[in-house]
Amino acid sequence: MSRFWSPLVHNLTPYIPGEQPKCKDLIKLNTNESPYGPSPKALEAIRKATGETLRLYPDPESFALREALGQHVGLPAHSVFVGNGSDEVLALAFQALLAHGEDVLFPDITYSFYKVYCTLYAIPYRLVPLDADMTIVVDDYSIDPRSNSCGGIVIANPNAPTGKVLSIDNIRRLLTLHQNRVVIVDEAYVDFGAQSAVPLVKEYPNLLVVQTFSKSRALAGLRVGFAFGQPDLIEGLTRVKNSFNSYPLDRLAQVGALASLQDKEWFTNTISFIVRDRMTLISGLKELGFVILPSEANFIYVKHPVHDATKLAVLLRTRSIIVRHLIGPRTSPWLRITIGTEKQCLLLLSTLREILYS
Ligand SMILES: *Cc1c(COP(=O)(O)O)cnc(C)c1O
Repeated sequence: MSRFWSPLVHNLTPYIPGEQPKCKDLIKLNTNESPYGPSPKALEAIRKATGETLRLYPDPESFALREALGQHVGLPAHSVFVGNGSDEVLALAFQALLAHGEDVLFPDITYSFYKVYCTLYAIPYRLVPLDADMTIVVDDYSIDPRSNSCGGIVIANPNAPTGKVLSIDNIRRLLTLHQNRVVIVDEAYVDFGAQSAVPLVKEYPNLLVVQTFSKSRALAGLRVGFAFGQPDLIEGLTRVKNSFNSYPLDRLAQVGALASLQDKEWFTNTISFIVRDRMTLISGLKELGFVILPSEANFIYVKHPVHDATKLAVLLRTRSIIVRHLIGPRTSPWLRITIGTEKQCLLLLSTLREILYS
């Protein structure tokens, strides 16, 4: 506390990211990073860009990267926005597209940053509970479409921390129900098996789809996120961006992300390993009696009918494995576990077996 803080600062409850331990020997299954290194082509492009040209500002509009991202999905560059991680893209989207003075709706269990942005920008919000199966129910968002009394909708798909998917038909229904407000679909984990809403962008002027290089492209440390939407939505984001920071992506981030996007082989291989090891981990955990939500992400959400999640997390930690335990009325029984390498998944299973049966 300080008398120098603005009233806003007193009211903030900042997001708490998962632990980044100082000790290197821990097996990190707590923040959904990729267990594989980034594409060697991305690393090479970054190395090549570390030279004399770093004295120059980067392209403020990251044009080459936006054009490539657009080509990747069949959209023009002016339908693409990029930012310093998708967290920044989301923050700008909340400010540019959702601050209408009416409640923004998102699930009670989802990415906890959404609440934080609402507080930062003084956007009122309402939490819509997931059903008992931890599923998003579209009808629960249908307040009164004519009264227009909602500021927008934010959905993570697959949802975090559950890993569960909302079908494209359901996303279509959400977009149709709320034609006068923006629907943000946060697809941080879409590459691990879910269907993307990007093909709907051309059809729905109220859709913004946000993705990231942090998870499926193993570049969390580079900080590159992006969004697809119709040009006027993107222009709104760009206006806020250019009122805040003209250069959110540095030179290394722009070339690294571009090279990563072009390395299709690295991408398909690493995704297939994670999908394979997700199945291994799920069947192993089932044998140990865990309840596991169906996941299309690079993590799974699990609970044990007998063993307490807090204790399990602590016991794993003393055995050098960290997983994420989110404390909350509905989340406390659950652990969120990132899919690591095959070796890490097998070690997790043998460690849990030892904990459960010793
Ligand atoms: C990890 C994550 C992000 C943020 O990703 P960055 O691009 O690293 O900022 C956004 N949304 C969800 C749901 C995430 O899990």
